[in-house]
Amino acid sequence: MKSRAAIAYEAGKPLVVEPIEVGAPGAGQVLIENRAAGLCHTDLSLIDSGYRGFPIIVGHEGVGVVLQCGPGVTSVKPGDHVVTSSIPECGTCPRCVSRRSNLCVKEDVTKFHPDGSPPSPHLRRLGGSPVRVLCQGATFSNHAVADEDLVAPIPAEIPLHVASVLSCAVITGMGAALFSADVQQGSTVVVFGLGGVGLNVLDGARLAGATRIIGVDTNPSKVEVARRFGLTDFIDARRGGSEILAAVQAMTAGGADYSFECVGDSKVAELAVEASHPNWGKTVLVGSPSGPEPMHLPIRSFMLGRSVVGSLLGDAKPRTDMARIAQWYVEGKLATDHLISHRLPFAAINDGFDLMRRGESIRAIVEY
Ligand code: NAD
Ligand code: ZN
Ligand code: ZN
Repeated sequence: MKSRAAIAYEAGKPLVVEPIEVGAPGAGQVLIENRAAGLCHTDLSLIDSGYRGFPIIVGHEGVGVVLQCGPGVTSVKPGDHVVTSSIPECGTCPRCVSRRSNLCVKEDVTKFHPDGSPPSPHLRRLGGSPVRVLCQGATFSNHAVADEDLVAPIPAEIPLHVASVLSCAVITGMGAALFSADVQQGSTVVVFGLGGVGLNVLDGARLAGATRIIGVDTNPSKVEVARRFGLTDFIDARRGGSEILAAVQAMTAGGADYSFECVGDSKVAELAVEASHPNWGKTVLVGSPSGPEPMHLPIRSFMLGRSVVGSLLGDAKPRTDMARIAQWYVEGKLATDHLISHRLPFAAINDGFDLMRRGESIRAIVEY
């Protein structure tokens, strides 16, 4: 069938909205009509750096409706509202049944390597030339075909524009707090970067019962919305490293129990570790720098008991944990409604990225 997609062709250049051809779903696959997509900073990093190669459809956060199921699909049916994840959950492999990892053995980790995103077997430019996708759900395409393992049904009562941010910002931030860090009741938390992901770390920490939730950002205009997600204290990141550390230490009796890097910057990551409590502080690295720059820290920073973990999609299971998180939204426990600052028509997708570049959006979404 014919559809249309926003394709990145060249580093730092606007996406081109153009017609594409979408193949039929095979066995175990689902044809989805994407309805809305959130713009994540990872999309912008890949557009600007070209890290995964061109031409590429980078959208990986969004919501759609199932149009057609291939043979053997049992967990969704036409008409269901679904979000697609960038990683699968088969539900039966040793990793899917364990809480130690959310990287199902079916995940092809080579796709995370430079230039590693493969051409899509289902989406082609007119004339038949291939286009890469960051994930099969390709939310910057009006239609996509995805393996059933990647597709999570969500309650139809969640407004589609709100659901559009569940599959990356919400699950990543919420999961980083609840699963990667396992924030405990009464604890102290510091979050560097109050964007789409960082705000959801706040929301997760609030749900977990953290009592002091400190946000650090270069943009003080984020404070008002961050309060809705549980922020108790704000530190202006422009004050510089030693002042930020002193402020966090003063607010937390020596360092935060949990520290989160949600910017994607190695210097901020170093600061996040130093802001954690020297004896038991745990730092979760959520931001993904687009370049290979290393983090430099003295080994003695860890001698007294600090730890650092990386976190992909918040260590959340993209189907079973998504079902839980969607249910929390329905029960009114989440602040997700406040995340969406701009609703744009799909054709205006480049305006959404310009808003992100200028730091003027919380989460911009596009609607088909
Ligand atoms: P965003 O653009 O919405 O937010 C980034 C925030 O960081 C902004 O509020 C900005 O003002 C702030 N900031 C910039 N420089 C700062 C500094 N020096 N100190 C403190 N704050 C600063 O981005 P996002 O969509 O929330 O994504 C955040 C990061 O998380 C990106 O690196 C993205 O690639 C990454 N990400 C990782 C995963 C994962 O699974 N690990 C998933 C999604 C996004
Ligand atoms: Zn993302
Ligand atoms: Zn699995």
